[in-house]
Amino acid sequence: MTTREETEKLDEQDPLAPLRDLFDLPVGTIYLDGNSLGALPRATAARVQQVVAEEWGRDLIGSWNSAGWIDLPHRVGDKIARLVGAGPGELVVADSTSVNVYKVLKAALAIAAEEAPERTVIVSERTNFPTDLYVAQSVAREHGCELVLIDPGEDPADRLDERVAVLLLTHVNYRTGAMWDLAAVTEQAHARGVLTVWDLCHSAGAVPVDLTGAGADFAIGCGYKFLNGGPGAPAYVWVSPRHADRFAQPLSGWMGHAAPFAFTTDYEPAPGIGRYVSGTPGVLATAALECGVDTLLAAEPYGGLAALRRKSLELTRLFADLVEDRVGGFDLESPRDDDARGSQVCLTRTEGAYEIVQALIARGVIGDFRAGQDGLPDILRFGVTPLYTRFVDVWDAVEHLRQVMESDEWRDERWAQRLAVT
Ligand SMILES: *Cc1c(COP(=O)(O)O)cnc(C)c1O
Repeated sequence: MTTREETEKLDEQDPLAPLRDLFDLPVGTIYLDGNSLGALPRATAARVQQVVAEEWGRDLIGSWNSAGWIDLPHRVGDKIARLVGAGPGELVVADSTSVNVYKVLKAALAIAAEEAPERTVIVSERTNFPTDLYVAQSVAREHGCELVLIDPGEDPADRLDERVAVLLLTHVNYRTGAMWDLAAVTEQAHARGVLTVWDLCHSAGAVPVDLTGAGADFAIGCGYKFLNGGPGAPAYVWVSPRHADRFAQPLSGWMGHAAPFAFTTDYEPAPGIGRYVSGTPGVLATAALECGVDTLLAAEPYGGLAALRRKSLELTRLFADLVEDRVGGFDLESPRDDDARGSQVCLTRTEGAYEIVQALIARGVIGDFRAGQDGLPDILRFGVTPLYTRFVDVWDAVEHLRQVMESDEWRDERWAQRLAVT
């Protein structure tokens, strides 16, 4: 059985250990929620200060040209593209994930309507992140489409008949950390004439993704989770070069126009992915996002995402094993199989999941709680971020969990008070 000393040894031998210094982490906190809000990079505060004081304060509107603000969605997009197997000029930073789900679903349905008008079904999964489902419901209403949801354990391929236009899946499930085989599912979908939209919110920066290799159609994802872009950071959208020029996305704003400063009356989409930008980019937030993305690119000399992925799997495996060996009383909801698991460990328990998470947070171990729905259990989530999570952090987190359970500390009524954000 592993000891604390052994986990300290693993940290000493960890080639990625120096990357932790890229972050400004509070002392005494074990942060296991980078899958919900990535930690603050050290570079961000100074960079945002510089954008505020110099680019905005001193250079004022001239910074759209002199500081390259106008290219920011593309510049940062090209950096994110390197993390998801997309080429330069194929991915832009824009809006929120929710808004981008709308754009790409509409574009996918437009392609389907042209190529195969009999296809009027969107397939997604019941346990998809709710915003994806809510937007899909609204798009389905607009188009008179049917939205079909597969249940956990179901193979999407079984539902992809000749009526289906689009398959909308989240690569790594937010509740369970279960990961689809993006290439295999995309291939099955294409074999049945179905377009794919992949939500990479819990993948980009956490697991290697190869959109080009998989021949995927559309992808979207958010900037504030594993990309460390800060609360409410802008999201991104990728469209395969096969499709990018074919349709003007529905939120056809002036920043996605071929010549925004021509101020013409009629919309003419910018070539390629540029049309997926709608309005003026949030410069401060995008500058912060760039600092977050740079922390991941800083891992390239250390083996990049492949090395981060190896460490992430070691961390999540260690976490699950330690809970089983030293605590007990929890069911593991995240997959044991490395190939099917993202960068988080999810535990379930019939009683007290919320209270246990709160008791841990009070001890400085920050994970989170996701309420069960439709007969699914409540979940305790612990995300690992190999850029800064240490092996000893996993040991200490599980030791805190052991103490919280053994002492019945979680039963204290203080922890039952539900907060607005869980
Ligand atoms: C976090 C997350 C979102 C968030 O969408 P926002 O528009 O940023 O609120 C969407 N989808 C998935 C799968 C997520 O994990």
